[in-house]
Amino acid sequence: DTIGGNLDRTAAAHPDREAVVDRATGRRWTYAEFARDVDAVAHGLLGLGVGKGDRVGIWAPNCAEWVLTQYATAKIGAVLVNINPAYRVHELQFVLNQAGIRTLIAAESFKTSDYAGMVEQVRPHCAALRDVVIIGTGAWEALLAAGGDPAALAGIGATLSADDPINIQYTSGTTGFPKGATLSHHNILNNGYFVGELCSYTEQDRVCVPVPFYHCFGMVMGNLAITSHGACLVIPAPGFDPAATLRAAAEERCTSLYGVPTMFIALLAEPGVDELDLSALRTGIMAGSPCPVEVMKQVIERLGMAEVTICYGMTETSPVSTQTRADDTVDRRVSTVGRVHPHLEVKVVDPDTGTTVPRGVPGELCTRGYSVMLGYWDQPDKTAEAIDAARWMHTGDLAVMDDEGYLNITGRIKDMVIRGGENVYPREVEEFLYTHPSVLDAQVIGVPDAKYGEELMAWIRVREGAAPLTVEDVREFCAGKLAHYKVPRYVHVVDEFPMTVTGKVRKVEMRAAAVEILG
Ligand code: ATP
Ligand code: MG
Repeated sequence: DTIGGNLDRTAAAHPDREAVVDRATGRRWTYAEFARDVDAVAHGLLGLGVGKGDRVGIWAPNCAEWVLTQYATAKIGAVLVNINPAYRVHELQFVLNQAGIRTLIAAESFKTSDYAGMVEQVRPHCAALRDVVIIGTGAWEALLAAGGDPAALAGIGATLSADDPINIQYTSGTTGFPKGATLSHHNILNNGYFVGELCSYTEQDRVCVPVPFYHCFGMVMGNLAITSHGACLVIPAPGFDPAATLRAAAEERCTSLYGVPTMFIALLAEPGVDELDLSALRTGIMAGSPCPVEVMKQVIERLGMAEVTICYGMTETSPVSTQTRADDTVDRRVSTVGRVHPHLEVKVVDPDTGTTVPRGVPGELCTRGYSVMLGYWDQPDKTAEAIDAARWMHTGDLAVMDDEGYLNITGRIKDMVIRGGENVYPREVEEFLYTHPSVLDAQVIGVPDAKYGEELMAWIRVREGAAPLTVEDVREFCAGKLAHYKVPRYVHVVDEFPMTVTGKVRKVEMRAAAVEILG
């Protein structure tokens, strides 16, 4: 199925059910209204001369127009290019040229960023860029009002193949410069659909999505999972705002709530969270980086998300490869990333030899199936490094599979620390530090050490009102409970970690900073 065809089927089945609620503007769409506006934007794009395979950039924080553009481009077979809301002039120019963007849909501004101004600055340097449409201005209204022949649109739909490239999504840039994954309708629509299946979404569900649409978590596990099941998308705010997210979840009677672990940590620390009426919440997704067991437990107990699931995946695989199921034991649901998704394969290999390792032994996780991207946009060398001849995607993540197929992600290969010849998985130490009552968030990195090769350094955010932790406190807390070589040698207390726009901790930056700190 194509993304446009799927939306039309949902709209035909549930025309009067709510499709999208944009809390920032107060606007609401039923499926019939939403499908109508998607077609209007599609006609507007056709009017600008956008055709199949042309790249259309979207540069905006979360808003209904983002979603309208997502579906409108899919309807006409144009390739949507998600542009990071945190980009500045140089990065914007880079992505416009790298992807050869012909039409750019952009917000006027976001927080302190003057998007419209930056677009004007780079425009003379972007040869492929023909049209810029700023949301909220006359140009956007004109796009919506352009009109056109419905039969022509249906005709275009009939020429599209589900295997056509439809989207360039960038990775988070956690380990380096973001890479653009080229994805088809088939890749992302199926993945969104199965994520929704495993959350048992129906047209009764209302899903609060505070994660950026710019990223696969928002646009696939959010938008596509929701519309393919006739559920309702609730957009709490343009950027992540813990108070607005909780208010939206309560007032809109949301049944599901999404976030990366750092977002849930912020939601749980929000004043008044325990007094809100979140009784409609039943499920949700935590994903994107290691999900601490303590945080999962609190999400279930304090937010009432009894069926919350963990997903593991990456942009290059549309994104989800494994997910916990509602009928898994609570222990497994909070402590593993679940089992392989329907119609996909996973294996754990020795990264040096490529042979599959026995159950219980850590190795590199590889995934294969419909969800593997077409390739990195215009970077065949990088694609060849990531996807082997048998179409296995090498994830760069370390995993352990148990006898029943449940996976644990023990970290990224690049983050593993080797101290005095012993492999240390920072994840394991972080999990332990989370059990300290004063610890709000903890991240562990390896720092160069003359004697042991690497030593462990814990970066800690302490809870409000708690006394700052010293290295002695931490070492004493770990003594006798963690093997001696896993006990952090250094402790660095901070207010914030360096983060990507998708809410992931950038350990690369932390390692560089640590080298400076330790002199
Ligand atoms: P880049 O590839 O640009 O360095 P990135 O890998 O963070 O950034 P994404 O595609 O957004 O970009 O994220 C995929 C990665 O996120 C996975 O490879 C994995 O390391 C991590 N991840 C995702 N979900 C989980 C999870 N549930 N538990 C642990 N790690 C996860
Ligand atoms: Mg990656």
